[in-house]
Amino acid sequence: MNKKQLAILAVVSGLIVCGLFMYFFRTRMNKIVLILLPRMELTSLVLVILVISFSGDKMNRPNSSVPIQRLFNRSLARQVIFSKEEILKDDGEPYTVFTPYSKKWLATLNDFYLRPYPTKEYGENFYNQSPHPIPSLTDIGFEKVGKPFPSQEIDYELIRNYKQTRDYPGDAGTSRLSVHLRFGTISVRALASTAKKLSGTYLNELIWRDFYHMVLWHFPQVRKGKAFRPEMDNIRWRNNEKEFEAWCEGRTGYPIVDAGMRELNETGFMHNRVRMITASFLAKHLLVDWRWGEAYFAKKLLDYDYAANNGGWQWAAGTGTDAMPYFRIFNPSLQAKKFDKDLQYIRKWIPEIDSFDYPRPFVEHEFARKRALEEYTKVAKGK
Ligand SMILES: Cc1cc2nc3c(=O)[nH]c(=O)nc-3n(C[C@H](O)[C@H](O)[C@H](O)COP(=O)(O)OP(=O)(O)OC[C@H]3O[C@@H](n4cnc5c(N)ncnc54)[C@H](O)[C@@H]3O)c2cc1C
Repeated sequence: MNKKQLAILAVVSGLIVCGLFMYFFRTRMNKIVLILLPRMELTSLVLVILVISFSGDKMNRPNSSVPIQRLFNRSLARQVIFSKEEILKDDGEPYTVFTPYSKKWLATLNDFYLRPYPTKEYGENFYNQSPHPIPSLTDIGFEKVGKPFPSQEIDYELIRNYKQTRDYPGDAGTSRLSVHLRFGTISVRALASTAKKLSGTYLNELIWRDFYHMVLWHFPQVRKGKAFRPEMDNIRWRNNEKEFEAWCEGRTGYPIVDAGMRELNETGFMHNRVRMITASFLAKHLLVDWRWGEAYFAKKLLDYDYAANNGGWQWAAGTGTDAMPYFRIFNPSLQAKKFDKDLQYIRKWIPEIDSFDYPRPFVEHEFARKRALEEYTKVAKGK
């Protein structure tokens, strides 16, 4: 055998060994997860599903022959109403715009999709073995936070009035069920079923939740920390660290922004209207990369969910699906006037609001608006 033939032989044998290793590795991983599954607490189970689901394209590929994949597809479909392939355009392409997606979602919804998933029927697929100890929540890094924890009960009256109350952060007008939906401690089907009867507006929020999960699956750039709209990754962020710090700590001088950030820091929750205002302020008024804010929310929110958080941030920063165009810039003072006109929310989180201890705004709204518009327009027009 000459040198060239020897080299080819070495490369081919190397590839075969690698292939065999990958095969054994995947088979063993599947077995381990199958053994653990029946014994896990719900929270750990959801965690494992999420880690595996987003840990690589290979495991997630549709029609994969890997049995665990089929199991996870079902599990994920239980986290949302419709899984990623169930609501597509007529040509089989994923939606990129919320309104037509929501129309198709509503047209597809029937009692079948709202019934609890018949998990018992599939129980026998689990691998039968004697019990093994499984890691506790503490073992895998969860800590008690001692923060108020919202109830798991569905408040029917609240959902009935949701359309009128949901935008006012000073009132308890939203359901506060996000943390339960995120960890699977409430059934999204039961909730959607209630919403269908009592409030189309509330049901619409659950559609947003499905929409962002669908976007996360179909548009890999979103999973890789990129803007949904690639041209928006050309924005030249100012990324002033001092300003970012002031935003995190609720010291911008814009009361509605600061109240929101203080609520987040103290409770691990922030009202949706205020999430939109604070996120828009960071990305547009301060021209700080929205990913900094996304990461900060991820660290602080008890209901942190990659899909909804990323979707919300890209929406507010004008880099995502079409709902919030880049040239729409919230005026934080007008937002406060409209949604917290009696300063109920602001006073709760900023007791020193009327004193000299409260800082003056460090950036003037009209100046910041023009600066953001200039940068965003350049990028949107490809300059
Ligand atoms: C910048 C930003 C970041 C966000 N990050 C998260 C996050 O990490 N986790 C999270 O669950 N939601 C996130 N949201 C969406 C929304 O703010 C929260 O779901 C909501 O405030 C939770 O409070 P609630 O349970 O009282 O909601 P309700 O108003 O009672 O709504 C009911 C449920 O619908 C879902 N929902 C409502 N609005 C949205 C939305 N815009 N997108 C997706 N689902 C929605 C939630 O599961 C929520 O619990 C974010 C929004 C923005 C603008």
